[in-house]
Amino acid sequence: MVERDDLLLEVKNLSKVYPLVGAFRKQVGTIKALNDFSITVKQGETLGLVGETGCGKSTAGRVILRLIDATSGAVIFQKQDITAVKGSQLRSIRKDMQMIFQDPNASLNPRMMVGDIISEPIRNYSGQSKIQTKDQTMELLQRVGLSGEAYFQYPLEFSGGQRQRIGIARALALKPKLILADEPVSALDISVQAQVLNLMQDLQQEYNMSYLFIAHDLSVVKHISDRIGVMYLGGLVEVADKISLYQSPLHPYTRDLIAAIPVPDPRKRVERMAFEGEITRPNDSFTGCAFQSRCRFAKPECSEIKPTLKQVGPGHQVACHLY
Ligand code: SF4
Repeated sequence: MVERDDLLLEVKNLSKVYPLVGAFRKQVGTIKALNDFSITVKQGETLGLVGETGCGKSTAGRVILRLIDATSGAVIFQKQDITAVKGSQLRSIRKDMQMIFQDPNASLNPRMMVGDIISEPIRNYSGQSKIQTKDQTMELLQRVGLSGEAYFQYPLEFSGGQRQRIGIARALALKPKLILADEPVSALDISVQAQVLNLMQDLQQEYNMSYLFIAHDLSVVKHISDRIGVMYLGGLVEVADKISLYQSPLHPYTRDLIAAIPVPDPRKRVERMAFEGEITRPNDSFTGCAFQSRCRFAKPECSEIKPTLKQVGPGHQVACHLY
């Protein structure tokens, strides 16, 4: 799927730290929601980010889109450092970075007609005439598989899958270079998920855009991604193309995540390694590997030295002292 090798997005050592507040609103420490997170996304590529709830994948997406500020690190988008840009510069960058939300019910204003929802970004950014804007909106509706009548209807008149199509049309309105899709199908019925994922793939080819696709469901991420980053407690533990990741997962956490994917044929099921132990608190008191408390392969150095991502094969990186 990746045709060109040029970088669209480069994220370097991104961290997001929140204060940990105790009794009497006194700060008693910090929580690292994102910890030294680095990743790249190529033009036209889909990078999947997976991990359990609270692993920092949504925080990573929001920091990259500048919806929240990073504590440290850098976000380079289209060769420009956008980590601290503000005002009109940020507004101009936002045009090229759009978002598809998890819950189409919550992200679409129920009091606005669908046509107005989709055309809002065009009206705000393009300076086109009303007729041009309406024509473009009608085209977008058609492109996501909705009829022109939808223009005059309200979000509540549609099913969940159709509402997500409206959300996709709105994200596409300004022909962005990058779309952050944060759990875009997890609120939909299984039968509708594949339709929405296939639509996203078709649109990606047509518009040559990149996706940063965030999900907790590995089978969904496998369907759409070119490369996948596995996150644990605010950091990446493994990055690889999807074939390498699913056929030869290396990090103990990735291996267990993949083993947990339901397989209908019992003969093809692999032994599942059960997670043991408590999840480490992502505060400033622990040293070493964040996964050590749940890892059956932990050795003494795992509690002392933090493993960093190392190249272990073409495009395959893992952060674990076993490698
Ligand atoms: Fe397990 Fe150690 Fe690897 Fe962490 S570094 S995943 S504790 S073996």
